[in-house]
Amino acid sequence: MGFKVAIIGRPNVGKSTLFNRLVGRKLALVDDTPGVTRDRRVHAAKLYDLHFDVIDTAGFEDAAATTLPGRMRQQTEIAIREADLIFFTVDAKSGLMPDDRTFADVVRKSGKPVVLVANKAEARGAQGGMLEAWELGLGEPIPVSAEHGQGLPDLRDAVIAALGEERAFGEDEDEAGDEIAASEVLIGEDVADPDAEPAYDDTKPLRIAVVGRPNAGKSTLINALIGEERLLTGPEAGITRDSISVDWDWRGRRIKLFDTAGMRRKAKVQEKLEKLSVQDGLRAIRFAEIVIIMLDATIPFEKQDLQLADLIIREGRAPVIAFNKWDLIDNPQELLAELREKTERLLPQVRGIQAVTVSAETGRGLDRLMEAVIKTHKVWNSRVSTGKLNRWLEGILAHHPPPAVAGRRLKIKYVTQAKTRPPGFVVSCSRPDAMPQSYVRYLSNSLREAFDMPGVPIRIALRTSE
Ligand code: GDP
Ligand code: GDP
Repeated sequence: MGFKVAIIGRPNVGKSTLFNRLVGRKLALVDDTPGVTRDRRVHAAKLYDLHFDVIDTAGFEDAAATTLPGRMRQQTEIAIREADLIFFTVDAKSGLMPDDRTFADVVRKSGKPVVLVANKAEARGAQGGMLEAWELGLGEPIPVSAEHGQGLPDLRDAVIAALGEERAFGEDEDEAGDEIAASEVLIGEDVADPDAEPAYDDTKPLRIAVVGRPNAGKSTLINALIGEERLLTGPEAGITRDSISVDWDWRGRRIKLFDTAGMRRKAKVQEKLEKLSVQDGLRAIRFAEIVIIMLDATIPFEKQDLQLADLIIREGRAPVIAFNKWDLIDNPQELLAELREKTERLLPQVRGIQAVTVSAETGRGLDRLMEAVIKTHKVWNSRVSTGKLNRWLEGILAHHPPPAVAGRRLKIKYVTQAKTRPPGFVVSCSRPDAMPQSYVRYLSNSLREAFDMPGVPIRIALRTSE
């Protein structure tokens, strides 16, 4: 029962911070004496519904950093040997250092299952480091911020993918059955062959969250979608006590729906909800692949809505907008044009967001909403082959090449897609630092258009070409 995790990586990547996050200790707690053997070698840790032990390697490197690199290596090897799973941690903010590669070699040689944690992912400029981490050959880097507690749902999924459902959950759980086990394993499995364009997988449950201001109509929507009579399945084990998920299917497509404040509104006073809703929304967002932003069409686009949209995009999730209470609108065509214009203007970083008018109360538009969700999910999963990308690049270089900076023209060598969910591209170029943001935006817009990826975040990382 249970499994053991070792957090491995060079000094300063954030291993102790991650350790503390997983075992639930306060970040300030640093009572470890470097290099001293302590008795509490493993600590019980939890990642939502996963329970495991983390091997405490704190202090290993402090002792080593001064005089004993060999010892650091040795201790790391011991931890690796003891572990069932390695969290190989790199610092996405600083990018790869030679030590990362040394440690990665040790880990790779061990043959143990590995999850590649790209920590400090919330930091400015972390995208480059994150994509660089692919070079380690340890699979897909999972962007995490140990300090801010971000990216943990994806880390959970990656653990399950690395270990398999059975080992991840031990023997006694899992009413969900093998059907899920087989499909869940595919999560995080990505880009073995950069030229393959795997078919869209519609067997996994599509995870949706519904967010929005109080009274936008979230609970009405959810009830309309799943049917009033359906009993909610209650809090997900260990996920968040106040978040509720429902399994359901739409036209044969499996859906996992997360709701937060909406369904609990009766239990709480309104003012409290006002304060909670962004925080609540954030939790739901991290669980979801697609996030429905519910707006009351009679009072659309307030600051909080934009804040939520921005969060969704920054978290790499794909938004779909539902303009609700459309039954109350007398000038639908005019208003729709206005709302579409506003959407594009206020959220320019994600062009072509799907926006659907609905009436949760009458049920009008709900099928179109679900179609928009599935369409967006496909785009969010899309993969473009390296061949196509580089033919696209040829066109770009011929018609709108990068500018010259200080008299020298910037060169772009090639482009590959390093990631899906959302699509992330690595652009290999002569001087990443000199590349103007405006040109990167141009590339992103052009990619979006050329490969038909409306409404989802697109990430571009610049890398030096040697
Ligand atoms: P270790 O040497 O690998 O155990 O790294 P620590 O956990 O001691 O972290 C090294 C430094 O990175 C500390 O200053 C942390 O506050 C910082 N750090 C850890 N995690 C994060 C993160 O997610 N984001 C940012 N920006 N800094 C982090
Ligand atoms: P939540 O706080 O976002 O969960 O919002 P609710 O689902 O509780 O809805 C808030 C209020 O708006 C309720 O009085 C609903 O009956 C009403 N409402 C929700 N959807 C619609 C709609 O499509 N049309 C109209 N006219 N009222 C709606």
